Amino acid sequence: MNTINSEKIYRFNTMLESAERIVIATHMKPDGDAVGSSMGMYHTLKLYGKSARIALTNPAPASISFLTEGNQDILIYEYEKEETEKAILDADLIICLDFNAFHRTDTLQHALTESKAEKVLIDHHLAPDLESFSLVFTETAISSASELLYHVLMELPPVGGDAKALPAEAATAIMTGMTTDTNNFMNSTYPSTLRMASSLLEAGVDRDMIIQNIYNSFKETRIRLQGHVLKDLLNITPDGVAYIILDKDTLRRYNVQDGDTEGFVNIPLSIKGVLMSIFIKEDEDRVRVSIRSRKGVSANRCAQKYFNGGGHENAAGGRLFIPRDIAGINDAEEYIKRTTHIFMTEENE
Ligand code: 5GP
Ligand code: MN
Repeated sequence: MNTINSEKIYRFNTMLESAERIVIATHMKPDGDAVGSSMGMYHTLKLYGKSARIALTNPAPASISFLTEGNQDILIYEYEKEETEKAILDADLIICLDFNAFHRTDTLQHALTESKAEKVLIDHHLAPDLESFSLVFTETAISSASELLYHVLMELPPVGGDAKALPAEAATAIMTGMTTDTNNFMNSTYPSTLRMASSLLEAGVDRDMIIQNIYNSFKETRIRLQGHVLKDLLNITPDGVAYIILDKDTLRRYNVQDGDTEGFVNIPLSIKGVLMSIFIKEDEDRVRVSIRSRKGVSANRCAQKYFNGGGHENAAGGRLFIPRDIAGINDAEEYIKRTTHIFMTEENE
């Protein structure tokens, strides 16, 4: 992992020792890896006798809230706009996790750009915006931001290469972030990922508790919605593109919240012959797009070309703008069929 070297570790350690007002930031609509890496960093600061504020654009999804519950240092822009901006502007060190450019934080972008703090990036996405940060740890051949954070933390003097030196809450958060980004070791699992998992288990992390929270704590309404989605809303094009379009009326009818549809996009890829899966969801104010693909098909390129987004090679996201891309949610189907046909034909030439 050549993103980590002794000079960068020395600088990061010095920043952590001297900082007085630390803020941790991650991407909008934070997922397990975003929250896991943020909480992993936060709890590790205890080894420096420090605390931090964690700036979130929106609250953590319910399945991950076991990492954040009751924590008074979490600021959620959606609820505390001014306080969140002030913390970012007043910070002397900002640690950014699981995103590659400030615009991925949506409402935090302005404050992050304006803040005079030292800014450190620890991320696993393609094409990081290097200009915006004074210190960057970036690696794409890795499971998650949580795993990259782990490798960075292991090099810091207070940890000294021993996972047992990590505060227990930090170890749990990192294991959680890696688990959600790999879909419980289904994808993006590297030798280093398994070595990390092994060390964290040895250090006492309770993986059963994590799995219980992430995968076995869904609301009944989510599972019923999942049934409806797979039975009635899943379509597959002749090019092997599966798509699901979920409008806000359906979400309301099943009484589910935003995070409750997490993971739906992965399911169609378990069908033989499906090469790419697209999940379209109508939020209150936007149309969100999630894309997953098999090896050899680039979800990232498809998201960039047709869905105003990006991400990783096989897991990406974006949005559709009304009326620029489509006149309304009812036109999403036509749009997907047309653009993915072009995409799949061109890509496979
Ligand atoms: P999800 O489908 O889970 O929302 O996102 C999948 C992956 O794509 C995540 O790693 C996420 O950070 C990334 N992603 C989602 N939306 C965007 C986007 O609009 N731009 C970029 N660059 N990445 C995105
Ligand atoms: Mn991630």
